[in-house]
Amino acid sequence: MTDPTAQAPGAPPVPHQDYRAVDRTLLTPMMQHYVSLKEQHPQAILLYRLGDFYEVFFQDAVLMSRELELVLTGKEAGKQIGRVAMAGIPHHALDRYCAQLVEKGYAVAVCDQMEDAATAKGLVKREVTRVVTPGTVLEEGMLTARKNNFLVAIVPSGSLTSGADQAIKHWGLAYADVSTGEFLTTQLDSPEQLSQELMRLSPSEILLPVDAPDFVGLLRPGEGAGRLPDYLPRNFCYTLRSQSPFAMTQARQRLLATFGVHSLEGYGCEHLPLAVRAAGGLLEYLADTQKQTQLPLQPLSTYTVSAYLVLDPQTRRNLELTQTVRDGTFHGSLLWALDRTRTAMGGRALRRWLLQPLLNVEPIAQRQATIQELVEDGHLREALQSLLDGIYDLERLAGRAGSGTANARDLVALAHSLGKLPELTVCVRQAQSLLLQRLQQVPVELEQLGQTLKASLVDSPPLYLTEGNLIRDGVDPSLDALRAAAAQDVEWIKNLEESERARSGIPTLKVSYNGTFGYYISISRSRSAQAPPDYIRKQTLVNEERYITPELKEREARILTTQRELQSLEYEIFSALRTEVGQHVSAIRAVALALASADVLCGLAEVAVYRHYCRPQIGQDRALVIENGRHPVVEQSLPTGLFVPNSVQLGLEQQADLMILTGPNMSGKSTYLRQIGLIQLMAQIGSFVPAERATLGVCDRIFTRVGAVDDLATGQSTFMVEMNETANILNHATAHSLVLLDEIGRGTATFDGLSIAWAVAEYLAGENRCRTVFATHYHELNELASLLPNVANFQVTVQELADEIVFLHSVQPGGADRSYGIEVGRLAGLPPTVIARAKQVMAQIDAHSTIAVGLRTCNLPDAARVTARRPRSRDQLNMFEAADER
Ligand code: ATP
Repeated sequence: MTDPTAQAPGAPPVPHQDYRAVDRTLLTPMMQHYVSLKEQHPQAILLYRLGDFYEVFFQDAVLMSRELELVLTGKEAGKQIGRVAMAGIPHHALDRYCAQLVEKGYAVAVCDQMEDAATAKGLVKREVTRVVTPGTVLEEGMLTARKNNFLVAIVPSGSLTSGADQAIKHWGLAYADVSTGEFLTTQLDSPEQLSQELMRLSPSEILLPVDAPDFVGLLRPGEGAGRLPDYLPRNFCYTLRSQSPFAMTQARQRLLATFGVHSLEGYGCEHLPLAVRAAGGLLEYLADTQKQTQLPLQPLSTYTVSAYLVLDPQTRRNLELTQTVRDGTFHGSLLWALDRTRTAMGGRALRRWLLQPLLNVEPIAQRQATIQELVEDGHLREALQSLLDGIYDLERLAGRAGSGTANARDLVALAHSLGKLPELTVCVRQAQSLLLQRLQQVPVELEQLGQTLKASLVDSPPLYLTEGNLIRDGVDPSLDALRAAAAQDVEWIKNLEESERARSGIPTLKVSYNGTFGYYISISRSRSAQAPPDYIRKQTLVNEERYITPELKEREARILTTQRELQSLEYEIFSALRTEVGQHVSAIRAVALALASADVLCGLAEVAVYRHYCRPQIGQDRALVIENGRHPVVEQSLPTGLFVPNSVQLGLEQQADLMILTGPNMSGKSTYLRQIGLIQLMAQIGSFVPAERATLGVCDRIFTRVGAVDDLATGQSTFMVEMNETANILNHATAHSLVLLDEIGRGTATFDGLSIAWAVAEYLAGENRCRTVFATHYHELNELASLLPNVANFQVTVQELADEIVFLHSVQPGGADRSYGIEVGRLAGLPPTVIARAKQVMAQIDAHSTIAVGLRTCNLPDAARVTARRPRSRDQLNMFEAADER
């Protein structure tokens, strides 16, 4: 693409591109106003309404023309100043362009005309009416239906400047989804917890108070290097704010005022200063960006991360909860396999449940009981699901109504959805489980509201509210009267063509309308001499003459006035309806929440029925017993019946805690490992699980360490990442944790790797005493089982035929002694010469090198005892020397 700022030869000087570099007093009054607004919103792109366009100037113009591929022009901004850079978008395309900018991580300040330019005296009054930022969008087109759009505020307990951030241990974190009204706050006790919460929420925008005023601004994803503490994830958009709204007194006061209360005791955060500061600062930001728009948030609720199963970002990634590791797609993730929800609210709820499984047995059992009821009563499930099919996104529709941004289509959708509630209540009348019983009583006022909306609004209203045709006949007598008058006039004009044809004797005479003249009478030029004398000629075209008559113009004026009156009356009636809906936001959202849960549970029950899942027994002990378990995703991607089920038994009294899992490449070790993690996690969201039977103690954390990935963004090598993750596991796993390790120690030299793997396994079994599955190609680790009582060996079996191997995918007691890597290489299509040579090398290694099984005799791996004899044949390979010397 050509540089839009490049100057053609002989062109006038390049327009000014920096508003800070021009002498403000020399600017035209309008540009002075623009600059003063820009100074108030330096972090946002300022769209300034000028007639039918939103224009941007100076650096914003350069940026916007680059990002949206718009033409960069210039505008005279004062005699002694000359031109300044300018770009613009048509006013009706605001939402589309805003969406693109916000998607790219920019904030957009929208400055509107506050008075009619035609009647204004002097400079038209303009104001910034809204700042659209990634975390505060409400428009349907800018949101993902099945995903929350979180705005997060974080507040450190100390100063972030000059490296002091290392000492900060405590953080306040508040988050809100302004489109659905959720508003929560918490306090976190380590940077690790903070980054875990941020990764879970995956916010669109993070607010962070900073000390230095010149630091304030917006950092788009990836821009935080050197400006943010290392432990804060970089892939989010950060808005750096000044400290004052996050100060205790101011933040607390704002919360009290917003919710109209005298104490925060009822919200559970009165004694959590950092949580209060984060929540108050977040509210201030909403007020600052929304200007006149009031966003209806739910009452603040305080939560603690310790109430939920901890899933660190690696585990979330490795278990492929919401996207696959390989290509980041939704298809192939656990959410993909489980999501049978019918509404967007249900879709968002399931995602939240998966990312925040429970620790408490009771709510898990409640969810299970509902799923069981819906599994056993297929009629109930299907009836509920078909009702849910007709329910729109009540959470977001209510939010738009409450903030005054809903259009007529939104309210029609709301009416339609509320209209389903009585049927829904009847449908669950006999339900036994608590979570369905919650749907038995829908507030009567919501039913009435639905009826009022349905009776008032036409079935298919237009998108824009100012065009009329929103309200049904019979709703308002003055509206009906106006409509009748308009209809009469329209009828008169319709008849005019006939009567004028008769009067003039010209059968081709026509009455038409266009935007410039309004109504007119047209006669072909050849017959124009026959035009009656009262016709006033308005325009001559090649083939026709156009006329008006005083009577026609009078009718036209009446029609236009009536139309205007109609439109404004319809808008008034609509606004009143919208305000009425706004008063029921909390009640609608409470119903929406219950519906979302019911939707998730119906979906999980459907999966349970069709995929033959079982209800796991959940307890507080350490049992991890799965009989014939399956991987929920791999099973769905294979033809029916091809997946080989496998069992596991860990954590029982006097039995193994740690399983060493060996087996050939491609045999299914990773699948087995992940399926155990997924089954445990699914059980803790209350779901049934892909197994014949399962007894599972609640886990406090699931750790996974799978495969090797470079973290180039933070400058860490593959092995360093692996060791960091392993250290994290050893330092945090408790007896109630589940640890899944795949290939520890593969990123370094064989002996270093083996030694580390050995020591790690020993530590997990002996010190952490957590339940662990340790998949490895170091067959030497099978020795551990004979040294430690709580270690057992298992292998994934294969059948060896003459010249090939058959993967049986079956996990059996015992340890494997081969990895069949060369056979897998052959299957993958390595050239035959490479395969033959690999076999030759392998034979050499087998013949000449031994890793002493002396490991058995020492309690710790002793590098000195791990020896390798050098091959001495003509094929001697230097790598063995190298290995020895490492
Ligand atoms: P490597 O050691 O090379 O990483 P692996 O032993 O971890 O391999 P997986 O990646 O788990 O092997 O599985 C390889 C393939 O085998 C999977 O993609 C899947 O298609 C198939 N597979 C795994 N487990 C089963 C099973 N239980 N039943 C049927 N097919 C399976």
